[in-house]
Amino acid sequence: MINIYRVMERIMAEPGQTHADESEEVSRYILERFVLVCDPEEADVDALGYLEMLYFRVKDDKRILPELRSLPRILDKLEEDLAYSREIFGERAAYILEFLEADTLRHATDKSSNEREKLILGRILCLKRKYFSESSTEEKKERKTPVEIKAYLDDYVIGQEDAKRAVSTAVYGHGKRVRHPSVRFAPDVVLLIGPSGCGKTEIMRRIREITDHPMVFTDVSSLGASQYRGRHKEDILLELYEEAGRKKSLAENGIVFMDEFDKLLLPAISERGVNIHDDVQAQLLTMLEGSEVELKCDGHSLLLDTSHILFVLAGAFQGIDEFIRADKREKSKISGHIGFTSPLVKDMDVEFVRRNINHEVLMKYGMKRELAGRISSISVLEALTEKDMLRILTEPKDSLLRRYERELRLSCDAELVFTEDALRAVAAEALKSPSGARSLQAILGRCMKEVLYRAPDMADLRRIVIDTDVITEGAEPRYITENEDAEQHKGDISL
Ligand code: ADP
Repeated sequence: MINIYRVMERIMAEPGQTHADESEEVSRYILERFVLVCDPEEADVDALGYLEMLYFRVKDDKRILPELRSLPRILDKLEEDLAYSREIFGERAAYILEFLEADTLRHATDKSSNEREKLILGRILCLKRKYFSESSTEEKKERKTPVEIKAYLDDYVIGQEDAKRAVSTAVYGHGKRVRHPSVRFAPDVVLLIGPSGCGKTEIMRRIREITDHPMVFTDVSSLGASQYRGRHKEDILLELYEEAGRKKSLAENGIVFMDEFDKLLLPAISERGVNIHDDVQAQLLTMLEGSEVELKCDGHSLLLDTSHILFVLAGAFQGIDEFIRADKREKSKISGHIGFTSPLVKDMDVEFVRRNINHEVLMKYGMKRELAGRISSISVLEALTEKDMLRILTEPKDSLLRRYERELRLSCDAELVFTEDALRAVAAEALKSPSGARSLQAILGRCMKEVLYRAPDMADLRRIVIDTDVITEGAEPRYITENEDAEQHKGDISL
């Protein structure tokens, strides 16, 4: 009985095939093998295409001698990808590992099974343990110290040192509390203050990747008072309960991220002249203080204890610096206007706010005293500069550019190159947007849409060069084939 890598090795060793023939043969073999060992209905064509790509990467790697091109080398490439990003490659890699394992096992049960199959099975098992075993990742997650958590965040979130430290410490403390439920720790409620699109949610998205605790992200600006329509605190906890797979004990150790929290501090007057937000804040206080909240789920009710949930609150808190100034004036008995005028047009003085922010200022901003008292750490995030935008484009482990670059490599084996000026143009445009770094995706998406559509159809495509005019005027990118002169691209930045 022949198995997949034997066939691959044979094709790899055969000279003189054109790339297209070879590709066809490889896909055919992959599919044939798949049908033998797995349910054909379940074939994930995308993942099988990924296996084909791995095969060609081994074949095209000049460092690997033809006689050494084999399944272990394909597994090396797969591991390279997993080490680079589990998020991007994890699903396809897990699928391929299962498939290769099934295929190798099928072969290994045959009489001709030998040491080689056993070694390959061992390697597959190691990869599965290292990258997909629940218990091993759990152990790793549990052991992360605040410094390690912050180091992980540093790979993805540019700047925002204070906030990354505060969140890392809180997440570590949360893990400790969960592991030692009988020991009393001061409950943590973290507040992140910063303009739109500066990384508040991104920090928590990254935390989600390294924590086992269920997490919900919720925009609390739509919360309504108990006697009015709208979402209530129970809905947030119900979402957490669902996220925890309806396991009460897991949900009770979850993490809740509440965005737009500052919106609840502004008065919202009902038709009857009642400030709805007073009631909403009171509702949230019961949750943040730690209490048993009754939830209705599928016709039955349950009590969820919130005392061990970690709450992270976030918002722009526009104009809070003016409140601080007013507070200072009041204290120094200098009379005058409170000065809270058109905060939208002003950039917040971050250092000033950092030095002076406290519970009293939050109360002046509209937070109830008891609620302000629950907040154990306040971090102020900076508005991003053009330089930060440039770094966000290129530095994070799975930055937008890297994702596009990988996609083009996978779909047509072409290199994506942005000129330095083009990158600056993207950053400058993002800086003008009120949604901060969030707009980078839309700006890049606009020019990459056409590239992703056209490139896979182009023969012998080697590079796609994006110049400034592609960003600023919607001009055509340069599509460069193998034969074109490489000299003309001097000065481009290759990712
Ligand atoms: P907000 O501060 O409003 O919560 P986000 O954190 O959701 O904004 O940021 C929007 C997007 O912009 C993120 O998904 C991320 O891609 C990018 N981004 C924003 N700030 C940063 C940062 N400091 N480092 C890296 N990426 C960032």
